[in-house]
Amino acid sequence: MTRERSFWGWGYADRFPDTEARRGMAEHARGILGVGPLEVQEPPTLDSIRMPPSRIEPPPGLSAFVTSDRKERALHTYGRAYRDLLRAFRGDFTPAPDLVAHVRTEEDILAIFEWAKTEGITVIPFGGGTSVVGGVERPPSRSDSPVVSVNLRAMDRVLDVDVMSRAARIQAGATGPRLEEQLAPHGLTLRHFPQSFELSTLGGWIVTRAGGHFATLYTHIDDLVESVRMLTPRGVWESRRLPASGAGPSPDRLVLGSEGILGIVTEAWVRLQSRPRYRESATFHFASFESAVAAVRELSQSGLHPSNCRLLDAQEARINMVTGDGSSVLIVAFESADHPLGAWLDRAMEIASSHGGTCPRGPQRRTSGDRSADATADAWKSAFVDAPYLQSALVSLGVIADTFETACTWDRFDALHRAVREAVIGTARSWGASCSVSCRFTHVYPDGPAPYYTFVTVPPSPGGELEAWAKLKCAASDALIEHGATITHHHAVGRTHRPHYDRERPEPFAAALRAIKRELDPTAMLNPGVLIDP
Ligand SMILES: Cc1cc2nc3c(=O)[nH]c(=O)nc-3n(C[C@H](O)[C@H](O)[C@H](O)COP(=O)(O)OP(=O)(O)OC[C@H]3O[C@@H](n4cnc5c(N)ncnc54)[C@H](O)[C@@H]3O)c2cc1C
Repeated sequence: MTRERSFWGWGYADRFPDTEARRGMAEHARGILGVGPLEVQEPPTLDSIRMPPSRIEPPPGLSAFVTSDRKERALHTYGRAYRDLLRAFRGDFTPAPDLVAHVRTEEDILAIFEWAKTEGITVIPFGGGTSVVGGVERPPSRSDSPVVSVNLRAMDRVLDVDVMSRAARIQAGATGPRLEEQLAPHGLTLRHFPQSFELSTLGGWIVTRAGGHFATLYTHIDDLVESVRMLTPRGVWESRRLPASGAGPSPDRLVLGSEGILGIVTEAWVRLQSRPRYRESATFHFASFESAVAAVRELSQSGLHPSNCRLLDAQEARINMVTGDGSSVLIVAFESADHPLGAWLDRAMEIASSHGGTCPRGPQRRTSGDRSADATADAWKSAFVDAPYLQSALVSLGVIADTFETACTWDRFDALHRAVREAVIGTARSWGASCSVSCRFTHVYPDGPAPYYTFVTVPPSPGGELEAWAKLKCAASDALIEHGATITHHHAVGRTHRPHYDRERPEPFAAALRAIKRELDPTAMLNPGVLIDP
């Protein structure tokens, strides 16, 4: 049986907590935020939402896979950012696409391009719809142009496996679980596990430069892509399978991060790993965040390349129920299909303890088949998977709960961290609210960390969430750009980050990107407003 996806919230509809459970959450949130009673509101029904009628009909040749069904249009109206959840929770589906195309083949996509060209239709590629930056939403600037959302999920097969080179050709619509289940019989895995793994797709990962499982070395999907096939309105863009190449600027590099503005990715060859057999991990507690940061910096520059190197500040550790003792927590893990990793973990432990880190549970050494658990790492993992469901529940309580992420060089981190916290906490304070701001490092590099922030607060008055969120988000984004960090390490630009992305990138590069867009998509049908204005 197919599980029903929530048309307004994160994930599956059956995971949304009932009213009683949300009352309990409201009490908990009140305690943390020091506010009065929070109203537990009920989510919308499909009948109650506001959605304009579709303005177009598909031509007869396309009607087998194009629909104007209300639920389909609702499911394709927004991504899954806080702002999306809130608008959908309030029943506002005014930006719904006119039609949804569930393409099954490249021919279906080409037929959509042909139709869009002649009718002036806007085409929005749609993978898992987990964008947190407004990447799959109808552009306000094109309100007069009908919109077709092109869903790739039916194209989800692993087409070829090259065991010798450890690579596979996979269709762009495959979600994490779909592609892993097809690779498993070959003893291989992509090991790209973003938090949205359950629902996001290979094509979405590639065009948003998603960040996955590995904290070092293969941090972005970029590092796992061998070649890409993309359909553009001007023709097929397919790169050669190569382990590496110095032949001019890389065509793949232009597809990576293109966010659906240049074409629709239909398949890619990706680099695989053998399933890990050896795993070593340890969890360290630090009395101060600063000493934990120093330990992570030394680890990142040690050449050890841990697969996981996740630092949680005290607040993050508390929220995720990893520890409530006020310490910052660092989870370090190594994995290999080939060799035991004792020496690597021993050296990581030396580094952590030289910065004051303690390891209350001692090192955890596991080989395949060993089901023993690292309790702290497992507590973190289950909180990580449940967090998006919690966010949807908080929306129903009128609580603002969102995340943003970045990367900066080590020399800038302290000032950036202070400025980000001051900007967000100060903005909430301007309307008298307290604000919880927590930080973790998701990925680390020899020259800098990728900090990830979560903030939770309440608006000045019930109903004011959207305006309050916009102020908080803008204050945080200004702080990132003003302190030399990037507007996004892995969440992409979309429409939400456009103003700050425009400040970050060199102007000649923007001009070059516009020229490439004109060449590949002359009628600017694809995802207008994302990355550039055509
Ligand atoms: C709860 C949650 C957790 C998340 N965790 C992570 C994380 O750990 N790491 C991370 O990097 N991101 C994360 N994200 C963000 C999001 O999951 C990623 O950006 C992801 O790569 C999007 O994939 P998708 O298939 O859902 O793409 P969509 O959301 O459907 O689309 C994203 C963008 O790509 C375009 N697009 C999609 N498919 C194609 C295609 N085949 N060809 C061309 N363009 C296409 C769309 O038009 C849109 O602009 C998270 C999001 C949520 C809601």
